[in-house]
Amino acid sequence: MVNQATEVTINQAKLRIIQGDITRQGTDAIVNAANSSLMGGGGVDGAIHRAGGPAILDECKQIVARQGQLPTGKAVITTGGNLKAKYVIHTVGPIWHGGNKGEPELLASAYKESLKLAAENNLNSIAFPSISTGAYGYPVSQASKIAINAVITLLSHSTTSLREAVFVLFDSQTFAAYASALTDIGEERGLPLS
Ligand code: ADP
Repeated sequence: MVNQATEVTINQAKLRIIQGDITRQGTDAIVNAANSSLMGGGGVDGAIHRAGGPAILDECKQIVARQGQLPTGKAVITTGGNLKAKYVIHTVGPIWHGGNKGEPELLASAYKESLKLAAENNLNSIAFPSISTGAYGYPVSQASKIAINAVITLLSHSTTSLREAVFVLFDSQTFAAYASALTDIGEERGLPLS
């Protein structure tokens, strides 16, 4: 029994949780909790565009011109602009409507599609925010379990290039929810925790 774990090992990969600002991460990619327009917004989306500069929005506009708005649960990749991270992976989480409108599947899909895109681009490391639990209103106790389960499942695929995934949680309540989910799910799956 561990008190509250902050790291779990899955084959050759590690999943960690930290409290902090995702715009400052030096992982190969950081994930943006975007909206379907890809035009920027509040919360983590606004913070990423502010820190990364106009090159990110330019690429987002080209993507929308080419393929239209980004559906919920899908992901696209752009430059990281001025960020330390080389890439931003933009995904759209579901808006919470009570839980019976496909929210769990759509949230899991946002994580899975982001991880798939990272692996297709041969990336080694990726950082996620807590998708959908801000303006989109997804209860963090439920969202944290879906997020951790989705990332562990994808990291356990032998073909992935990813060796490190980090959840960067902005506030202490969100961090506590993810710590509890990581501990419970790691124990359930019999994975080494620390
Ligand atoms: P959504 O619309 O998907 O709910 P939000 O950006 O409103 O997205 O919130 C998602 C989470 O991101 C919230 O927990 C919020 O506190 C957090 N957040 C906001 N700014 C940052 C940041 N700079 N780094 C990491 N997380 C952030």
